Amino acid sequence: HAKDGGRNNYKYYTTSLSGKTPELLNLEKSLRHALEKQELTVYYQPRVNILTGQITGMEALLRWQHPEMGVVSPSVFIPIAEETGLIISIGEWVLRTACMQNRAWQQAGLPALKMAVNLSPKQFRQPNLLEVVSQILAETGLAPEFLELEITETTAIEDLQFTRTVLEKLQQMGIDIAIDDFGTGHSSLSRLQLLPLHNLKIDGSFIKSLTTDVKVAHIVKAIVTLGRSLGLRLTAEGVEKPEEFDFLKSINCEDVQGYLFYKPLSAEKATEILQEDRG
Ligand code: C2E
Ligand code: MG
Ligand code: MG
Ligand code: MG
Repeated sequence: HAKDGGRNNYKYYTTSLSGKTPELLNLEKSLRHALEKQELTVYYQPRVNILTGQITGMEALLRWQHPEMGVVSPSVFIPIAEETGLIISIGEWVLRTACMQNRAWQQAGLPALKMAVNLSPKQFRQPNLLEVVSQILAETGLAPEFLELEITETTAIEDLQFTRTVLEKLQQMGIDIAIDDFGTGHSSLSRLQLLPLHNLKIDGSFIKSLTTDVKVAHIVKAIVTLGRSLGLRLTAEGVEKPEEFDFLKSINCEDVQGYLFYKPLSAEKATEILQEDRG
C-alpha cells in the first residue's frame, strides 16, 4: 500500500481507522444504492400450525442480490444497514412490500394470514415508528390484525419501560407482537410478561440441539409450558428434522417454521404454495 497513490493511501488510512475491511466498506457503499437499483427482494417463509399442518402466517425475510457478489446474507448486510442508518428506509420498504403482498393474497381470495415483519433495534427506536406503521397500513389497505411485528428478545429487554410504551401503542392499533430469537437474550419470561406480547419465537439454536441434548429439551418444554400458560402463541424456529417436530408436537408447541416444511420462498412461489394449501 505504501507504493499506492495518495488517494489509495487515504482510503487505506480510513479503513484501518474505522477497523473495517475494504470488502465491508464496499458492501456498505453498494448497500446505499441497493434499494433504488431494485436489488432487494422480500422472501416469505410459511409458519405452519403443528396440529393442522396449515399455513397460519408468513415471515418476511429480506434478500439482497448483489450484482457482483451474488446473494448476500441478511446476517451480513442487516448489521451494516443498522450501523449506517440505512435500515430505516430499507425497513420501511420491507414493511410496505410485505403488507402489500398480504393484502394482494387476501384480494385473491386466499385464506387470511398473519404477516410477520422483523424490526431491527434502530427501527424499533425510531421516533416516528407508529406513524410509519399506520401510514403503511392505510396505504396498503391491510387491516392491522394481519400484521405481526417481531423484535428480538435483546431489543425488548434493553429498556423495558420504553419497550412497553411502544408495544402498548402497537397493541392498541391492533398489531401483534412477537419476541424473536427467544432464549438467546438471557431474559426471563417473568420480565417479559410485563409486555403486551402475542407470540414467542424460540430461537433455532435451541431446536438444533433439541433431540441430542436432554437439557435443551427440558428448557424448550419449560418455555412452551410457561409461555402457553401466559397466553402466548409459541413458534419454534429452524425446525429441520421430523424428530424435532414430533417433540414439539408432544409438548404442545403451536407453530413451526423451518426447512422441514418450507424454506423462505419468492413471492411467486409463496403464492403457489398458498393456492395449493387452500385446495
Ligand atoms: P430471524 O428473524 O430469526 O429469521 C429466521 C432465520 O432463520 C432466517 O434467516 C430463515 O431463513 C432461517 N431459517 C428458517 N428456517 C430454517 C431452518 O430450518 N434451518 C436453518 N438453518 N435456518 C432457517 P435469514 O433469512 O438469513 O435472516 C437472518 C436474520 O436476518 C433474521 O433472523 C433477521 O434477524 C434478519 N432479517 C431478515 N430480514 C430482515 C428484515 O427485513 N428486517 C430486519 N430488521 N431484519 C431482517
Ligand atoms: Mg424473525
Ligand atoms: Mg429468529
Ligand atoms: Mg435471528
